[in-house]
Amino acid sequence: MSSAAELATHDPLERSVQYVRGVGPRRAECLRRLDVVTVRDLLYLLPRDYEAFGRVCSIASLTPDLQQTVLGEVVDIEVRSTASGKSVLSVTISDGRYIVEGVWFNQPFRAKDFRYGQQVAFSGKPRWHGQHWQIVNPIVRRPEEVTEQQSARLLPIYPLTEGITQQALRYAMQNALQAYGPSVGDILPAQLRTQRGLPDVATALYQVHFPETLAQAQQARRRLVYEELFVLQVALALKKRENQAVQNAPVMKVTPTIDRRIRQLFGFDLTPDQNRAVAHIVADLARPVPMRRLLQADVGAGKTAVAVYALLTAIAYKYQAALLAPTEVLARQHWHTLNRYLAKSRVRRLLLTGNLSAARRKEALVAIAKGEVDLVVGTQAIIQKDVQFARLGLVVIDEQHRFGVLQRAQVCKLNASGQEPHYLVMTATPIPRTVALTVFGDLDVTTMRRPPPGRHPVRTQLVPEAERSRLYEYLCQEIHKGRQLFIVCPLVSETESQDVRAAEQTYDMLRTGPFSTIRLGLLHGRMSDETKEEIMQRFRRGTLGALVTTSVIEVGIDVPRATLMVIEQAERFGLSQLHQLRGRISRGSVAGECYLFSNAHTPEAEQRLALFCRIQDGFQLAEEDARLRGIGEFFGTRQHGPGELRIADGLADVDLLVQAREDAQTLVREDPALRQAEHHLVRREVLRRYGARLHLAQIG
Ligand code: ADP
Ligand code: MG
Repeated sequence: MSSAAELATHDPLERSVQYVRGVGPRRAECLRRLDVVTVRDLLYLLPRDYEAFGRVCSIASLTPDLQQTVLGEVVDIEVRSTASGKSVLSVTISDGRYIVEGVWFNQPFRAKDFRYGQQVAFSGKPRWHGQHWQIVNPIVRRPEEVTEQQSARLLPIYPLTEGITQQALRYAMQNALQAYGPSVGDILPAQLRTQRGLPDVATALYQVHFPETLAQAQQARRRLVYEELFVLQVALALKKRENQAVQNAPVMKVTPTIDRRIRQLFGFDLTPDQNRAVAHIVADLARPVPMRRLLQADVGAGKTAVAVYALLTAIAYKYQAALLAPTEVLARQHWHTLNRYLAKSRVRRLLLTGNLSAARRKEALVAIAKGEVDLVVGTQAIIQKDVQFARLGLVVIDEQHRFGVLQRAQVCKLNASGQEPHYLVMTATPIPRTVALTVFGDLDVTTMRRPPPGRHPVRTQLVPEAERSRLYEYLCQEIHKGRQLFIVCPLVSETESQDVRAAEQTYDMLRTGPFSTIRLGLLHGRMSDETKEEIMQRFRRGTLGALVTTSVIEVGIDVPRATLMVIEQAERFGLSQLHQLRGRISRGSVAGECYLFSNAHTPEAEQRLALFCRIQDGFQLAEEDARLRGIGEFFGTRQHGPGELRIADGLADVDLLVQAREDAQTLVREDPALRQAEHHLVRREVLRRYGARLHLAQIG
């Protein structure tokens, strides 16, 4: 494939945005902050809203509170200040009989845009102001710009950044559309456009920026969203095809004997959902194509049991298996769980952590390399860094919610034998369908929705500050009865030290005050792994009755008697995160209770917490979360740049996504190398956006 540089020289849209008339080097620098670097970026910078000019009226016939346009001559320009110290710019226009006053707050510099005697048009919603009409923040244009036809139009409102005004951006956009619009090649094959009733790209771009009606703008945007999703889905379909072409994974067929032996180890029958997941995995392992399956289920839904089934299958076939966790604490947690399941088995197993002595570590690595260890548990970081396996057959990765396309691409490089292991990713964050179909589109997904029997919903409620001390009294009583409590303080990465202090202060305050009769522990992310582990041990054993902590306990921590939770400043957590936290106390035989304190002052935050109190189902919450925050936010890794969804993020409705996915799969099935002439532009765009990111080799 031609290099990126070569592409650039052929494609006028890849030119620097500074060459668009009205931009220039200085504004180009500012536009960078909006991730606009090339002409294409500019064309695809979509308005966040529109404003209307409204009908052209004479001043005498104005109607209050309706968007309208009036023409007149500037008869007064005045900057005054209000009692509260605001500046008010007032520009009055007259048609010879009546006047309209345009008013701007705190923008005195705009005064220089006006001259006495000049003809201007004001657009906005007028109010009758005692003796004359007033319009706050009118749109100002020259009279020659006000034709009847244009007045019907809508004007784009763009996201702005310092150094660029709305007017300048509109002007630049108009120029860009004029100069480059016709040379934007349509990525979508004509047949597909017809079939899906989508406008061509030049039309869509023009209409999304300067539509005649909102409906037209929406239709245009839909087309652009579809295009973005389509390109991603083609990339994912290609990746999947590429994955299928590799056929060097061990073939492991689960026999009835193996199945029986594994199931004996569980002290329970698998649920129907678990059995379905096992069936998917069994089918995958029986093929030489490396399994790439995502197992998603709510916290406590029984994923680990399914993972154990898979691990033991590989071991039954004399392959090694590895279980990777994102943190040491979690790796230990898995180690405990596995030891419970494997108590009666002869599986040779090993926990690989950062604090092994150099000698022990070397010993362990040698044993693994010689194939004397069947099962290794550790963190992703350690195992990926320096472990060579003799015969690795399966990797289970518990990614919890720290996943990403890039990370996943690097995992399977652990084997000395040259064989590729099968690969199962578990996630405890229920993934909304929009996200599953985009970010994880190249994986097979198994979802378990129904938890094992005997799960209780967690009673969740918002507690008014006034009832704090009553709640503390109640909690102390319950702890004395043998229950355990988490008190979670928020942790936001930018101010981590502050948050740690918040946890420390809460700890000191409680220890010397309301919780003085309780053995209280403190656990946060700034502690060393040993300290964390020691505290967790004490909590697990019940030596500690309550634990003040941050969201470090969010994932994987499993203590049956911990059925109480207090979350401080709950408004600072996202819905999915809150749900993860609450999952920590839904495991015991006693129904959990979760109490939220909040300083929420925005309707949005209040709405979020109300949803959380009402909804227990993690999938439903995840859908709400994605809807409220967008797909990027959902992963906590919102960053633009090549490969991210710029337009579709948060807007994509599932229908459009499913269409784009179907169409992409059809395309790749019919023309896997994208050789046909009408697929060249898709091919180029796929490579440009995802080639490196997904390591797409096949169509290179
Ligand atoms: P997850 O990994 O999805 O959070 P786990 O596999 O750790 O869930 O299971 C949570 C708890 O439920 C564990 O204590 C486990 O022993 C128990 N469990 C799992 N599957 C079943 C089942 N089929 N029947 C009864 N209990 C189960
Ligand atoms: Mg688990």
